[in-house]
Amino acid sequence: MKTKINVIEATTYRQPLAVTEILLLLNGDAFSICPRCKNTLEWEYQRYCDRCGQCLDWDNFDDAVIVEFQG
Ligand SMILES: [Zn+2]
Repeated sequence: MKTKINVIEATTYRQPLAVTEILLLLNGDAFSICPRCKNTLEWEYQRYCDRCGQCLDWDNFDDAVIVEFQG
């Protein structure tokens, strides 16, 4: 059963997920957030997340929500 779930997950990584959140730091820097692992992305419009390998979709990035850094 566990193997089956992993196969499904591996497939979804290749299907683009929309980037919908931007993390705003206290110093004014802003980073896009990976929709899958919530890691901050180093570059805007990078095709894949460095951390989890999720394929990213930037089509709706203009509508992304800004999230302020908490602590
Ligand atoms: Zn990620």
